[in-house]
Order: sequence, then structure tokens, then C-alpha cells
Amino acid sequence: MRLIYTHPNLAIVVQAASLLRHAGIDSELRNEYASGAIGEIAPISAWPELWVLRERAVDQALKIVETMQRPVDCPDWRCRKCESYNPATFDTCWHCGGEVSHNATPFE
Ligand SMILES: [Zn+2]
Repeated sequence: MRLIYTHPNLAIVVQAASLLRHAGIDSELRNEYASGAIGEIAPISAWPELWVLRERAVDQALKIVETMQRPVDCPDWRCRKCESYNPATFDTCWHCGGEVSHNATPFE
């Protein structure tokens, strides 16, 4: 078991887990419910964590997560409708399905 990724926003950690699943890598989410309400930044000890089960899959998993984090043209964004924080890779709000609002309120 190896911790390969952690982030204060559960949606991003879930997205990473989903990418790993597509790549056939078994992973496990921890602290899934430990963080604060959506939009709050929890202490780092309470951040959702993504663990890879098999040691030999760690390198591949790290590469996938790294690719996911590669800077894109647009920053992460906050939904205009529901105020949810969305990663730049999302075209619509994960929470309400609202349209991307890159120019409105960049997440800080
Ligand atoms: Zn929304």
C-alpha cells in the first residue's frame, strides 16, 4: 500500500481514483468523509487520500496522477450556480452540472 495522492478537494481525489481504475490499478480512498463541508479547506491531516494497493503499480499510478495535474490552459474554477469548486479538467460542474465559468471566479 502506498499513498500516492492527497488533495483538499474530494472531487479531485475521486477523479484520480477513477483514472487509476480505468488503467486497471486497484486503489483505495481514505479520509473520504473526514474533510469539512464542500468548499472548506480541511487541515492536511484530514485531506482525502488515494492509496495504491500494489507496490508494482505505484510508478504507473504516479504517472497518471502527474498527467492529471499537468497545467492546463484554464485554472480551476468555482461554479457560478452552486459555488462548488471544480478542477480545470471538468467542463461542467460536478455538483450541479452547471457550465464552466473559468473567467468568473478562479479558485484560490
Ligand atoms: Zn455547480
